[in-house]
Amino acid sequence: MHTPKFPDSTVRLYVLAACLTFVSVVILGFSTGVLPIRQAVSVDASPVMPVFILDPGHGGEDGGAESADGILEKNLNLDVALTMEALADFLGYPSVLTRTEDEMLYNRYGSTEETVKKKKTYDLRNRLRFAEQSGGSLFCSIHMNKFPQADCRGLQVYYSPEAEESSAYAVILQSYARTFLDPENDRETKKADSSIYLLHRIQMPAVLVECGFLSNPEECALLNTPAYRQKTAAVLTAALAEGWEAGLGKS
Ligand SMILES: [Zn+2]
Repeated sequence: MHTPKFPDSTVRLYVLAACLTFVSVVILGFSTGVLPIRQAVSVDASPVMPVFILDPGHGGEDGGAESADGILEKNLNLDVALTMEALADFLGYPSVLTRTEDEMLYNRYGSTEETVKKKKTYDLRNRLRFAEQSGGSLFCSIHMNKFPQADCRGLQVYYSPEAEESSAYAVILQSYARTFLDPENDRETKKADSSIYLLHRIQMPAVLVECGFLSNPEECALLNTPAYRQKTAAVLTAALAEGWEAGLGKS
């Protein structure tokens, strides 16, 4: 009963137009060239290779973090990632998503009947496999945070220790979040430890964005509004675009 209400496709298109204006302003403000985004895309590549691999965390039986009043992380993650995909593709950066539905991915490469813990392991392995087979250049996982202290708040970006450029991508994302979402967010980027399975194994630039804390009532209420999620998606997409234009992930 607390499931967030997401816009239908007509409303999504309308909001997307508003987001695009925002993204354009951000990108043009931070780029040195003239319309560098359009120039970056190879129009004769066939088939078109994805640039960004967007990974909405959790799904299906795995709801992820849950707020005190029952808002589930998995739904917010998917909404942000779908909006990012739409924005990125429109701007000329083909993207793929590890999931587009409310599902775990444990049986993507063959069905498994396992315990929940095993399902979680297979789910993560399959996200990794999908990412590595996708041909994409940058992996960006989307999550929401939760912590015992309710006053903790603020988007934070983790980066993979495996690829050098992950850290630079994370710095750009964190800086965009500070500038465009919350100037009081003084969080620093963090190198992922071994508890973040994907970032520890993936062999490409990779980041994981904790978009905010569901355990903070104020931030949770914000994250539960379509407008704030769309703004978050726009800011993250613009930051990824800037990293790509700066040459990150192209080697
Ligand atoms: Zn999560």
